[in-house]
Amino acid sequence: MNTGKQTIKCTVQQCTYNDCNEQYCTLDSITVGTHEMNPTDQQCTDCKSFKKKTS
Ligand code: SF4
Repeated sequence: MNTGKQTIKCTVQQCTYNDCNEQYCTLDSITVGTHEMNPTDQQCTDCKSFKKKTS
């Protein structure tokens, strides 16, 4: 298992884990999934760690 330090860049500013100034994810790891039966494109993938910002 690779335990090296990662940087997850993300532009989803509506997510509570996003650092909106630097556009990166503040979590150590995220889960990416899909809502499609047979994903064929970038738009078919989702960040499953997304959590809506409340304020
Ligand atoms: S949890 Fe997902 S959507 Fe939220 S900042 Fe991290 S990568 Fe972006």
